[in-house]
Parts: sequence; structure tokens; C-alpha cells
Amino acid sequence: MPPKPKKFICTFCRNDVKHIDYKDSKLLSRFVTYYRSIQSRFHTGVCLKHQKQLASAIKRARNMALIAAVRYEK
Ligand SMILES: [Zn+2]
Repeated sequence: MPPKPKKFICTFCRNDVKHIDYKDSKLLSRFVTYYRSIQSRFHTGVCLKHQKQLASAIKRARNMALIAAVRYEK
């Protein structure tokens, strides 16, 4: 019998996070790519509910200049 595919559990669901804080820039920076775009759900394993919250939190943090919007290359 082949092994069961590994089931990813959303990190926010596991820690029972109700609301994602946009001021937590250290946490948000884990969910952006090298060029500072929002990482897709496929790669991070975040559930749909939390991905939507995360996306708005990242956009809010960008507006408040808490995290970089783009990465500049020299
Ligand atoms: Zn979740």
C-alpha cells in the first residue's frame, strides 16, 4: 500500500490564530517571496481563510511601510 500523502496543516490554524496582526512584520516577512510578492497558498500551506487575512495584512503593512513592497537589485 502506498504511503498516504502528507497533509499540510495551516500554521495559523495549528496555533489557533483568530486575527493576523499587520504590525507583526517578522511573521509577515515569512510569507513573502524573494522579490517581496505574496507567497501562494500552494507553497506555504496556509488555508484559504487565513490566506485572505494574510494578504490584507501584508497589503496593510506595505501601506504603513512596515515591510518592503519590492526588493531592489543593484
Ligand atoms: Zn488556517
